[in-house]
Amino acid sequence: MNQTKYIFVTGGVTSSLGKGIIAASLAKLLQARGYRTTIQKFDPYINVDPGTLNPYEHGECFVTDDGAETDLDLGHYERFLNVPTSQANNVTTGRVYLSVIEKERRGEFLGKTVQVVPHITNEIKERMQLLGKTGEYDIIITEIGGTVGDIESLPYIESVRQLVWELGENNSIVIHLTLVPYLAAAGELKTKPTQHSVKTLMESGIKADILVCRTEHELSDDLRQKLALFCNVKREAVIQSIDASTIYEVPSLMLKEGLDVVALKKLALPEKSSPDLTQWNEFLHRLKNPKQTINVGLVGKYVELQDSYKSILEAFIHAGAANEVKVNVISIHSEFTNAENISEKLKGIDGILVAPGFGERGIEGKIETVRYAREKGIPFFGICLGMQMAVIEYARNILGYTDANSTEMNLQTSYPVISLMEEQKNIVDKGGTMRLGAWKCAIEENSLAYKIYNKNVISERHRHRYEFNNEYRELLENAGLKCSGINPDTGLVEIIELENHPFFIGVQYHPEYKSTVANPHPIFVSFVAAIKKHKNNMITA
Ligand code: GLN
Repeated sequence: MNQTKYIFVTGGVTSSLGKGIIAASLAKLLQARGYRTTIQKFDPYINVDPGTLNPYEHGECFVTDDGAETDLDLGHYERFLNVPTSQANNVTTGRVYLSVIEKERRGEFLGKTVQVVPHITNEIKERMQLLGKTGEYDIIITEIGGTVGDIESLPYIESVRQLVWELGENNSIVIHLTLVPYLAAAGELKTKPTQHSVKTLMESGIKADILVCRTEHELSDDLRQKLALFCNVKREAVIQSIDASTIYEVPSLMLKEGLDVVALKKLALPEKSSPDLTQWNEFLHRLKNPKQTINVGLVGKYVELQDSYKSILEAFIHAGAANEVKVNVISIHSEFTNAENISEKLKGIDGILVAPGFGERGIEGKIETVRYAREKGIPFFGICLGMQMAVIEYARNILGYTDANSTEMNLQTSYPVISLMEEQKNIVDKGGTMRLGAWKCAIEENSLAYKIYNKNVISERHRHRYEFNNEYRELLENAGLKCSGINPDTGLVEIIELENHPFFIGVQYHPEYKSTVANPHPIFVSFVAAIKKHKNNMITA
């Protein structure tokens, strides 16, 4: 196939309708039919990337192999498709303007007045086609962040309009995702917000080819007919997206509604075989039929917002299904956890994950939690800041370095067991300057880490500034803290673990970013298995 085809996904009526999940589900179906598919997201905010955003603002920042700090929807794309994304898959208004302004400073516009149309829109169009031009994909799905009608979305909508025109007949389609609300008082589903939203799109010169309607109730035939007539789409192009019990069910719901078939028809592409979802459905079956439940305490400071730890929660879903257990993740606020209330806070918890994070707030609660897990033999998993806290806890309570700390929290500490690398010391800019993306790690054979990965060298994604301070490595190792994973090029400690404990591991990187439905992450899988085993031992003991 020579021509890459484009699917644009826009959203109307409200935000949070789940454009990312619809895009990922459609991509999954197309991939399962044998089309090489990827998804990219264009976000209308002015931050150059979401790396500088507080998790409360925008949820988790997802990190790719090439070190891009991106929107959390890219996590869904990877989890559904099992294909890595990159910097090119996430573009923000900030990035677009930055690059246009840099070109202007270099004189690349040859004295022209630089304007939103055509310069910003050209930059957007170019970036929209970047992955398409690699020849690696048959179909590119582009999700436009925000809601149609927003001032900040206008350049994107105009770029889509131009591209649809330029690409020509059958080479692109527009899917519009809207809400069909149910008015309880009237006992009716209402189509008017969708009609208005489609009209807004039309005013910008874009005709939706397919309507995906989020709804809490089944859409009747009459209602589908009405939506088709008033929104100017074919009857078969009105797709119902009813609330699902899990996001992983959405691909089969979309298959039932024929979303992939309608899209392929509009793109003049053959249906090929029916989608092969065998592995996916097996996963779904295990997910829905757990044999046991375990409770994992997620100890962090951003627990009020579920999206802050999105990839961790999803990794537990994958690992739970792999172990045929339901993983109940219970959020525990580290800020309100201390030595006095710890046993009460962790009552009924079978395993503990200490979460990633930044800054001082809540860290003493995290350290106390590690101590509790270590002393009581509760399966423990520390990620990034969670691993750093485990090192500090060990230094304080085993080596007796009572004020041991990370220099992120206390510059004056007598024992900076976690500290800044030399090359980080002179960095002033916050955006994109952490240790980011994929780095190698060599694993010691006689270790828990090796049992988990069964590999000598792994590659995992990072997002942090501070590191295990190697000046304390020998002291800590002699005291029993095993450094089982080391970066082979820099000597930095990536994995720590404890022997004589049911399961105790801390990793400097973020394994959660690499867990997918097809490839649940081995640490999460082993952690859940260890919790299950430990829990069952406790019951029979
Ligand atoms: N704040 C720590 C650092 O920068 C940990 C970061 C994280 O948990 N992602 O090193």
